[in-house]
Amino acid sequence: MTGLRHRVVVLGGGFGGLQAALKLSHAANLDVTLVDRRNFHLFQPLAYQVATGALSPAEVAYPLRAIFKRELNVRVVLAEVTGFDLGARRLAIEPMAGEPQHRTLDYDTLVVAGGSQYSYFGHEEWAAAAPELKSMESLLDTRRRILSAFEAAELATETSERAEWLTFVIVGGGPTGVEMAGQIGEIARDTLRRDFRTIDPTSARIILAEAGERILATFPASLSRRAERDLAELGVTTLTRHPVVDLDATSVTMHPADGERLPIGTRTVIWAAGVTASPLARVLADAASAKVDAAGRLLVEPDLTVPGHPEVFVIGDMARVDVPVLGVAPVAMQEGRYVARVIMERQRGEPVRAFRYLDKGNVATIGRGRAVADLHGIHLTGLVAWVFWLALHLWYLVGFQNRVLVFIRWIFSFVTRGRGARLITGEPEPTADRQLERT
Ligand SMILES: Cc1cc2nc3c(=O)[nH]c(=O)nc-3n(C[C@H](O)[C@H](O)[C@H](O)COP(=O)(O)OP(=O)(O)OC[C@H]3O[C@@H](n4cnc5c(N)ncnc54)[C@H](O)[C@@H]3O)c2cc1C
Repeated sequence: MTGLRHRVVVLGGGFGGLQAALKLSHAANLDVTLVDRRNFHLFQPLAYQVATGALSPAEVAYPLRAIFKRELNVRVVLAEVTGFDLGARRLAIEPMAGEPQHRTLDYDTLVVAGGSQYSYFGHEEWAAAAPELKSMESLLDTRRRILSAFEAAELATETSERAEWLTFVIVGGGPTGVEMAGQIGEIARDTLRRDFRTIDPTSARIILAEAGERILATFPASLSRRAERDLAELGVTTLTRHPVVDLDATSVTMHPADGERLPIGTRTVIWAAGVTASPLARVLADAASAKVDAAGRLLVEPDLTVPGHPEVFVIGDMARVDVPVLGVAPVAMQEGRYVARVIMERQRGEPVRAFRYLDKGNVATIGRGRAVADLHGIHLTGLVAWVFWLALHLWYLVGFQNRVLVFIRWIFSFVTRGRGARLITGEPEPTADRQLERT
């Protein structure tokens, strides 16, 4: 250790990193640096509401600098981490603002919480036609695509073309896919019902494609069935055991194990399947001669340190602990608080206990007044589960102002069935004609 004060660098201001830095901010004897390539914390559980125009981007995000404005021992750095020099205890970083240049950041203890990204199962070329829901940019892109599809259908002259624009395919029947499918169902049936003159938005075809036996596979089977019924009432067709084998800008092809290939003409595909750890996990594993699992997560010790490097912790979606846990926000948050506690206990010379996850249950929403929750065997459905889901997300949303704004928005939406952020922004898709006009 150099200097008098212990330097902790926290990589990532998502769920895990933020909790670690918040807890460490109470330790006045530590110098904490939080480094993230974005200047905000994104509340991913409400990301799909931005992608469907229910909430505005700023309502689900909060500036990291504002979170720590009163915590004088915490410094926020806007930069991308590109490498680890574990021997020198140094990170390589590229600043996100100003001229691109290589810099370094020294630490005594490092907490790595770089999260995960969507995986296209080796078909990265699908990403252009099927955006995922991870970054703020992709959320706004998805919103543009969904709303633009209805606009394009209104102008389409051929029946087949109109049908393609009014067909939406969501790939992946986990909580995010279910939420997206339900929301698109509500957009078509409620929000846009009276807004068009040529098309009938309620005729939109919404397909949720899932490769496995059932949707919401981490929930009890009875709740999966209930979610499927709720989705059907919102006009969503759920196709289980239908893996997607091909997709492009105008179609998706599924191939059930026991059936024929099923091509579906569509202009809007949303990717909510398959998650893999941030590539940083592999970079760090290489630097530490550690291992990663099939999902790219680094195999950590019971105290969440990298084998052979007690000064480096890995948490959240990047970490694989010996007792497998889901890649969800509560895991990352508990791990973040745990490593902060360990760092402070080590400073005091106290013994350290292994990390244990306290599973409080699982909840997923489907639409207005519809959700499912599994709270250790207690199953909630319908309005009760939905109110529980709302309260939980308001509680965990970062920033008092955001909680108030989101609460008011939800009340308005509940009463009016409207959506306050139905803006089509960003560049339209390049078409041959439009490119001609610009040249
Ligand atoms: C659309 C969606 C919906 C979800 N819904 C739910 C839900 O309802 N409930 C639930 O429990 N979980 C949900 N999850 C999962 C949950 O969001 C993750 O498990 C959780 O965010 C993991 O926390 P983390 O700290 O590991 O990573 P993250 O929260 O993803 O944070 C990673 C941070 O690291 C930063 N970063 C990454 N690489 C670098 C780099 N090289 N340099 C600098 N900074 C970097 C990123 O900018 C980011 O801020 C959802 C995820 C998604 C994508």
